[in-house]
Amino acid sequence: MRAFIGLGPPDTVRDALDGLQSDLRVGRLVDPENLHLTLAFLGEVDLPTLEALHLDLQQITFAPFDLRLAGLELFGGARPRVLSIRGQAGPPLRALRAKLHSTARGAGIDLPRARFRPHVTLARFRRDMPPDDTAKLGRFLSAHADVALPAFPVEAFTLYRSHLSPDGATYEPLADYPVPA
Ligand code: ATP
Ligand code: MG
Repeated sequence: MRAFIGLGPPDTVRDALDGLQSDLRVGRLVDPENLHLTLAFLGEVDLPTLEALHLDLQQITFAPFDLRLAGLELFGGARPRVLSIRGQAGPPLRALRAKLHSTARGAGIDLPRARFRPHVTLARFRRDMPPDDTAKLGRFLSAHADVALPAFPVEAFTLYRSHLSPDGATYEPLADYPVPA
């Protein structure tokens, strides 16, 4: 199955992101329950591997830390594909990601080696965006360029299953891994 490890923001942050999205009159919005920040994209993983990984993930410890989402980002260059809000890539987030990556590799999963750009995807756009929509997106970006949400504590990470569909992917939380109390 297709899987990844990520952070699900608390409801207060989901609500704030939902409010922000409601100002965006273009593209396909990510539903509030699907909003997440990816820490490790696992790709297609078979069940025995996922079960082994699950045991290893339960052994991971980390100190809770604060995460802030701030600043909008468009991916895709001249033909924007994805609008997201940036996560601050501080040392605790990087350290957690590094642990997750080494744990996943230890379980035999081959992870893509890409630069870490922590973000929460808010909307996706068709490749052939009509000029009208481009203008709307531009107005949204200027209105919300300096968006900054209150920091929230990260006290757990989540293993998700990803269900791809033509109507947009949905993500099913399989397990939460809270910091030990
Ligand atoms: P779709 O692929 O249909 O656009 P999606 O990208 O949201 O949907 P997945 O491809 O299953 O769904 O990805 C799940 C999560 O992992 C998303 O947050 C996605 O951005 C991230 N992701 C996917 N591929 C990679 C990759 N190669 N490297 C890093 N993160 C990735
Ligand atoms: Mg994808």
